[in-house]
Amino acid sequence: GKRSNRGQVQVFTAEHVIAIEQNNQIEQVLSRADLEAELTVFFQPIIDVREERTVAFEALARWNSPELGRVSPDAFIPVAERTGQIGTLTCILLKKALAAAGAWPDDVRLSFNLSTHDISSSDGVTTIVGIIMSSGIDPRRLDLEITETAMMYDFVQAKTSIDVLKLLGCGIALDDFGTGYSSLSQLHALPLTKLKIDRSFVSDLHKNPASYKIVKSLLALSQDMGIGCVVEGIETSEELDALKKLGGVLVQGYYYSPPVAENETGKFLSESDAARKA
Ligand code: C2E
Ligand code: CA
Ligand code: CA
Ligand code: CA
Repeated sequence: GKRSNRGQVQVFTAEHVIAIEQNNQIEQVLSRADLEAELTVFFQPIIDVREERTVAFEALARWNSPELGRVSPDAFIPVAERTGQIGTLTCILLKKALAAAGAWPDDVRLSFNLSTHDISSSDGVTTIVGIIMSSGIDPRRLDLEITETAMMYDFVQAKTSIDVLKLLGCGIALDDFGTGYSSLSQLHALPLTKLKIDRSFVSDLHKNPASYKIVKSLLALSQDMGIGCVVEGIETSEELDALKKLGGVLVQGYYYSPPVAENETGKFLSESDAARKA
């Protein structure tokens, strides 16, 4: 993860060469792909552990390329950011995600990832506002996820964009919290409504004192700020139990479910929620 790389000397290896060649290939194929057809959105439930109820889904991009097969968003999103194609991708993904959310009960939220590019120009945010407005979905049902890295590029413009989206009624979630470098005073300047604790802090929560302390203090911070906190990457019942003891409420992770296709979201939204535990 990012944390373990910090402070280490980076050595250029054969793996780097392979990674660069893969990025070039992804860039070429992506630039001529039929994105409307090849991009889909998967959804991962976010559960309120007090009620064992799905309260939201995070939209996660999936690219099924006829040439390359399934490509991970960790691979193609950064490439699209670099080439400027990300604007097109965001539009397609946001429309598809909002269309899916239209079929859910009104009290189930949609969480959507924005990239640096999406919030680094007034055109970008105008396009996003337009898509939300024409979707028919109440913007108050939406959480927009941003990262500290996305804020670093141009804090003033990013903050302006986020303020606009907040005024529209959207929630603003700070993603991968704890992995970035932003100062708490900068964070305080943002109209945040949620923190999402990165899953690198969650593995072995029950037996790793360092993780335990970090999650504990991040939960306390979100409480002080009076905002919600989603803990990502809960994979085992031991991790879940430890988190519950710390007072964690909102959970996302393989323990409950990996991201699923749109047509599988229904099973998380009814009385079958309780049965799912069995
Ligand atoms: P993220 O926003 O931090 O999303 C969470 C990632 O963690 C997802 O990977 C999810 O499948 C994975 N995950 C969830 N629970 C667990 C768990 O219990 N264990 C493990 N090992 N992993 C878990 P995914 O779908 O591969 O997405 C990777 C990243 O790609 C995302 O990280 C996000 O940064 C980016 N991304 C995905 N979709 C979009 C999108 O539509 N727009 C933008 N801008 N970025 C996206
Ligand atoms: Ca996210
Ligand atoms: Ca995250
Ligand atoms: Ca991440």
